[in-house]
Amino acid sequence: MRNGNPQQIRLAQLLGLGPVWRVRDPGGFAAPAEPRSAPRAAASPDPAAPTVADVETLDWDGLEQAVRNCTACGLCRSRTQTVFGVGSRDARWMFVGEAPGAEEDAQGEPFVGQAGRLLDNMLAAAGLGRARDDAPSVREAVYIGNVIKCRPPGNRNPDAEEVARCAPFLLRQIELLRPRILVAMGRFAAQTLLETEGSIGSLRGRAHEFVRGDLRIPVVVTYHPAYLLRTPGDKAKAWEDLCLARRVYSEQSP
Ligand code: SF4
Repeated sequence: MRNGNPQQIRLAQLLGLGPVWRVRDPGGFAAPAEPRSAPRAAASPDPAAPTVADVETLDWDGLEQAVRNCTACGLCRSRTQTVFGVGSRDARWMFVGEAPGAEEDAQGEPFVGQAGRLLDNMLAAAGLGRARDDAPSVREAVYIGNVIKCRPPGNRNPDAEEVARCAPFLLRQIELLRPRILVAMGRFAAQTLLETEGSIGSLRGRAHEFVRGDLRIPVVVTYHPAYLLRTPGDKAKAWEDLCLARRVYSEQSP
């Protein structure tokens, strides 16, 4: 069995994915993702926007407080609370999504709704876990964050200005965590981490590199769990992506 132990296979079967979740061949990736609509036009600049210079010296607690108090874009007006991130701050894996939804906004934690349950099942099938107690070891612990820390009204796509203003928080999270691998879930995460306009379909299937200062972190791109809920036929491709991520991680962290 190349890509999973019996427990992982059983979990994959419980996901209703059958054997397609276990058979992987490096390089066997195809099928572009369904592109989402383009970001909206940028709003007027706000001098209160967080910048890299503002956040680059903050530690975890300072960064979390800065996010909690942030009013740098209009999303602060409609949020219940900010959604900073979850998971072990010793984690070697970091998964990055797009923005909080209604349940995340209510609970203050990323990926707690239906998409979050799917993500947890996928992590478990891959032998990973978001909290220290869920992970077999620190090697398998996952930290989860979003590009955007406040819920866009009606779960609309964040616009370009909102992404630009919120991204420094994510970049600082990555600097503090220094994960061994990044998994970008969805177009906004992939485009933000890789500074590209590429589609999910063009970015999947190979490892990229996140570069910032002295950091060089491999990035694997996959679908957002919310997309997989709408398009369950692509769950097998997401499993391919997780298997690729495991291989990349194993190669650099034997
Ligand atoms: S989305 Fe980000 S930049 Fe906008 S108010 Fe929330 S924390 Fe600040």
